[in-house]
Amino acid sequence: MTLSEALAWGRAALAGGESPAIDTQLLLMQATGVSRTALLAFGDRPLSPEQQAAFEAAIARRQAGEPVAHILGEQEFYGLALEVTPHTLIPRPDTETLVDLALALPEEALRFLDLGTGTGAIAIAIAHHRPRWQGVAIDRVAEAAALAARNVARHQVAVEVLAGSWFEPVAGKRFGLILSNPPYIDPVDPHLGQGDVRFEPLSALIAEEAGLADLKHIIEQAPAYLQSPGWLMLEHGYDQGQAVRELMQLRGFVAVRTQHDLGGQERVTLGRWQDN
Ligand code: GLN
Repeated sequence: MTLSEALAWGRAALAGGESPAIDTQLLLMQATGVSRTALLAFGDRPLSPEQQAAFEAAIARRQAGEPVAHILGEQEFYGLALEVTPHTLIPRPDTETLVDLALALPEEALRFLDLGTGTGAIAIAIAHHRPRWQGVAIDRVAEAAALAARNVARHQVAVEVLAGSWFEPVAGKRFGLILSNPPYIDPVDPHLGQGDVRFEPLSALIAEEAGLADLKHIIEQAPAYLQSPGWLMLEHGYDQGQAVRELMQLRGFVAVRTQHDLGGQERVTLGRWQDN
């Protein structure tokens, strides 16, 4: 089997899936160690028996529905390659909106806190672009905290990773910016039975009260951990913008507004905290 035959075979095997062409390319690149450009330029090159076996195994896993990120063990976020395991959410492009908003703040030194960090994606992307900022990233799941710490080491950024529930590991500390992409899906949402989310931990996806319970908890607690002025930025579901704005305003945040994601959906709500 040559590289171009492998591409055609993989695409056919994954036809009907979400993205057969891209998935096939990524899996073939990993199985052969060949770059995207070389895949296309040297299509006549044959695969070794080991490469072909690895590629066929990867295609079979994808056919069974496993996310490409789990098969590769890696996912790119904000231009950075991150290790991914089944213990956390796979970083999504929607979440880049949260990073964009953080990077729009004034650049002077700042301490920030990322709650429910998972792979560490948000904290690592911010710290990569703001080397003078100090980050703390927390996850309740020990395997997630360990994974985030490996990703921090890989990208050599100034982020301290701690294991614990929400604010618990940073009692008594204050930050200029708190961010989170918490679980926010309604436990009865039918989309939990479809696609990649079937392979992600429910603890990273669902929250009680129609998905609002963890968002509420963070909004309630955040002022005790914010400097004045300080910012809170929260990712939420496309239909939760109004509820999150109201919760933040009720708690005393000012300049509350919602930013849309690349798909045009309400995705991140932010507000400023000011002691008085
Ligand atoms: N945006 C993700 C999804 O819809 C959910 C992320 C989350 O719950 N924080 O699959």
